[in-house]
Amino acid sequence: MNILAIESSCDETAVALYAGDAATGCGRILAEQIASQIETHARFGGVVPEVASREHLAALPPMVDAVMQEADLGWNHIDAIAVTSGPGLMGALLVGTSFARAAACVHGIPVLPVHHMEGHLLAPGLAGQLPAFPFITLLVSGGHTMLVRVDAIGSYSLIGQTLDDAAGECFDKSARLLGLPYPGGPEVARLARDGDASRFPLPRPMLNKDNLDFSFSGLKTAVMYAVRKLGGSEALSDQDRRDMAAAIEEAICDVLVSKALRACRQQRAPRLVIAGGVAANSHLRGLLASRGKGVELFLPELRHCTDNAAMIAYAAFARYGAGAPAPAEWDARPRWPLHELTPPHTLISN
Ligand code: ATP
Ligand code: MG
Ligand code: FE
Repeated sequence: MNILAIESSCDETAVALYAGDAATGCGRILAEQIASQIETHARFGGVVPEVASREHLAALPPMVDAVMQEADLGWNHIDAIAVTSGPGLMGALLVGTSFARAAACVHGIPVLPVHHMEGHLLAPGLAGQLPAFPFITLLVSGGHTMLVRVDAIGSYSLIGQTLDDAAGECFDKSARLLGLPYPGGPEVARLARDGDASRFPLPRPMLNKDNLDFSFSGLKTAVMYAVRKLGGSEALSDQDRRDMAAAIEEAICDVLVSKALRACRQQRAPRLVIAGGVAANSHLRGLLASRGKGVELFLPELRHCTDNAAMIAYAAFARYGAGAPAPAEWDARPRWPLHELTPPHTLISN
């Protein structure tokens, strides 16, 4: 089945075409595009929802045309439109879902609404690599930090989560304290390569609590005090910034890796997926590989860690590819806990 997928939940407009083979459960990406609004939002220091909606509106229609052209497919070749229906910014979601509904109506094809975090969670499947069930997923993005036990597609138990800031948010906010541009994660990672993490001992919040929850707001506060002690962000030397970036990255990754591996042990599920924007962090990937002996790692390709439409197409294929009917009624949902999802219902034939 050929799936046209649309993602517009936050500040990336993304479109992909995916050909899934229901017989094998495998597929391939025929074409994909991602238009980032980062530069537009950077001068505000974060995403401005109204601006995001307008940018999606302008970007989406030509991107759909371009992707169809690249794959050399017409609407008559498209079997379904997958679209992110939540969670995310309401106005941004509505641009994608309205486009999907209108195009589906005109061309007489179904719309497959997709949960954005299920897209992130299943992203390793794009490379043909979903682990056997049950497996554990560390979902670490701009808005979420969760540990999820996956027993089947759509059967997700939340076994740990952040009590305050998300890991990506901690990267972004700490970066801001260092005077680095938005989004801070990639900037911190870049500077950290030449930094000495041991110069600034930062706390590992919740590391010694025997649970699977996270807390990152204290870490951000510790960064604020450390920067203040050096005379504020403007007084920082390049080396101060590099060392501080290394310390921030090390502290965040240490906690994430420790808790993710603890989850695998506690749940007796030695298979771990890491997904979401922070999963693009190479220090995190390296630390998991070196400390995760006995745990099999499943990582999406770097470009499929941050927001993209290929992961939305794949989630739709994983959910509906075997013949489960598209939901008749649904709405865009800005807030939508992942564990509220249920497994797809397959058609009962007689
Ligand atoms: P959500 O998926 O929770 O709705 P989002 O879609 O905004 O949030 P993503 O696009 O998945 O989040 O990820 C963006 C986040 O990932 C940002 O916080 C960004 O700083 C962080 N990030 C991206 N690359 C890296 C990296 N190399 N190292 C650390 N953090 C990174
Ligand atoms: Mg984004
Ligand atoms: Fe995301």
